Amino acid sequence: MIKLNNISKSFGRQQVLKDIDLTVEKGDVVVILGPSGSGKTTLLRCVNYLEKPSDGEMIIGDYHLNCKYASKKQIHLLRQKSAMVFQQYNLFKHKTAIENVMEGLLIVKKLSKEEAIVRSVALLEKVGLGNKLEAYPSQLSGGQQQRVGIARALAMEPEVILFDEPTSALDPELVGEVLSVIRKIAKEGITMIVVTHEMSFARDVANHIVFMDGGVIVEEGTPVELFNHPKEERTKQFLKRIT
Ligand code: ADP
Repeated sequence: MIKLNNISKSFGRQQVLKDIDLTVEKGDVVVILGPSGSGKTTLLRCVNYLEKPSDGEMIIGDYHLNCKYASKKQIHLLRQKSAMVFQQYNLFKHKTAIENVMEGLLIVKKLSKEEAIVRSVALLEKVGLGNKLEAYPSQLSGGQQQRVGIARALAMEPEVILFDEPTSALDPELVGEVLSVIRKIAKEGITMIVVTHEMSFARDVANHIVFMDGGVIVEEGTPVELFNHPKEERTKQFLKRIT
């Protein structure tokens, strides 16, 4: 359902992604691992077109895009196929939790205010924040803010949710509540690509692990293949360092 063909990205003279090919099936939970600077976040941002790939082709659902020649209208349509959950939550500070979730429903999905309220309440209840509807981000913990971010992404009903290190800004005691929400929505069959350093989450929840280094996919496979039987020396070294 998602296919990246030969995706490349350069910042100036530095080539950060080199001919990335990746296939993600519907319902997959893909975890991208790799050392800092290997291009994980850039790859995720390319899927959502927050970064414009320098070259390559992207297929999301029935939507094909040649990145080099994409028009603004095509990019706009492609962006609606995915939703991003950011490391720093990126909530509107002057809006309440429910207003943050409603925003996209009103502006992108063009729902009526009443419909948007009903949907937002249901989504905030789903992430365990039914009692925080009117709270502002400053009145919420990091874990709660991130759960609002997840509800906001779900509201867009995207084909895929992209998580960019969703727990790395959190105090350790708040990581679990966010991972358990991600785990719950993964079980519902929502396709997701997750950049994370949480190895136990990767082992338990992912069905497809991708190991990146130096802007290329070095190795990919099931958690058992990658964690228990890594083939490439670079993968072995990385796993040795982090476990
Ligand atoms: P990772 O997520 O694996 O840590 P990133 O995708 O964030 O890696 O970064 C890969 C490389 O791209 C790094 O060398 C980083 O400095 C560079 N990079 C990322 N974003 C930009 C940018 N906006 N401008 C210039 N260089 C960037």
